[in-house]
Amino acid sequence: MIDVTLESVSKRFARGGDTAAVDQVDITIAAGEFFTLLGPSGCGKTTTLRMVAGFYFPTSGRIRFGTEDVTHRPPNKRDTGMVFQNYALFPHMTVAQNVAYGLKIRRVGRAEQRRRIEEALGQVHLAGYGDRRIDELSGGQQQRVALARALVIRPRTLLLDEPLSNLDAKLREETRVEIRRIQRESGTTSIYVTHDQAEAMAMSDRIAVMESGRVQQIGTPQEIYHRPATSFVARFIGRSNVLTLPVVTATGQAVTVRLPDGPEVAVPAPDGHGLREGGTALVAVRPEHIGLAPATEPGTLPGQVSDLEFTGMATNLTVDVSGERIQVAAIDVPSGTAVGDRVGLRLTKERMWVVRP
Ligand code: ADP
Ligand code: MG
Repeated sequence: MIDVTLESVSKRFARGGDTAAVDQVDITIAAGEFFTLLGPSGCGKTTTLRMVAGFYFPTSGRIRFGTEDVTHRPPNKRDTGMVFQNYALFPHMTVAQNVAYGLKIRRVGRAEQRRRIEEALGQVHLAGYGDRRIDELSGGQQQRVALARALVIRPRTLLLDEPLSNLDAKLREETRVEIRRIQRESGTTSIYVTHDQAEAMAMSDRIAVMESGRVQQIGTPQEIYHRPATSFVARFIGRSNVLTLPVVTATGQAVTVRLPDGPEVAVPAPDGHGLREGGTALVAVRPEHIGLAPATEPGTLPGQVSDLEFTGMATNLTVDVSGERIQVAAIDVPSGTAVGDRVGLRLTKERMWVVRP
């Protein structure tokens, strides 16, 4: 097991203009960790992963495996296992021949090859499938072959780039559980790339949320969900309302803001964020942390329901409050509640959180 460090890593492409595809990324991934790069399409996830793999070299910055500087080392000298979205298997060859690929390159002897291939296929629960042809397997099985092919070389790091994208929804959920089990059992330091926040939350020890080549926040799924650092993270992970509210008072670790037409509330602002009295603060609050009350109830935000959708588990409402459209997810909605109704919103103060722009 080995830790992986990216130190101020940037990548500019010759034809990329002035903007960096990856911009001063600092990440330390602990030995044995399952670490995810999460962000929308084009934010620099694949480019970052390819620099760890050695397919691209950074324009500036350093990459280390443990204490070894691998920044400019070619891919075949890094001991990384890679799994891609499109499997990249040889369809006309058997499962065993595909898995053997990395061992042949490394000139592992025949008997040892057979032993290691059986072991790797066992790891991904495909023992006995060695003689099957790739095109006889389902998509999920093919992706497990790709995983076996990556693991058979006993890589120091396992790099996975959107490996579930080509699978249908049900298989995607099954396979993500499988990938996590296999990673836990092998203990290989892993970097996983996805644009799917639910997948990232379910699988990862920690997540780096990226946007436009930059890391916006690094943390556990719980930290990122409950304490998003920026309005982008608050909106990208789950759903969030981000309200721009006037600051009444600002002290070191908290601000008091005034809600539209409503009361003043103290909200934690752990980094201060340079907020001043008389300025405004961005305050995030999740739809499930807003309750519905009668319109006349004191201390609530008066609003009008403009949209209502029953999902079974909850009812999702959009409520217009002084021009702001606030998302509410309520478990208990009085029967008969309808679009056009006047309601009061009760925001859970303890769940409100100041974010950076
Ligand atoms: P993601 O994997 O998050 O979707 P990428 O890392 O593939 O994002 O791309 C990040 C940015 O770098 C995008 O703007 C993309 O167009 C650009 N880019 C990626 N690869 C190249 C390349 N080989 N040449 C020029 N620009 C590239
Ligand atoms: Mg990509």
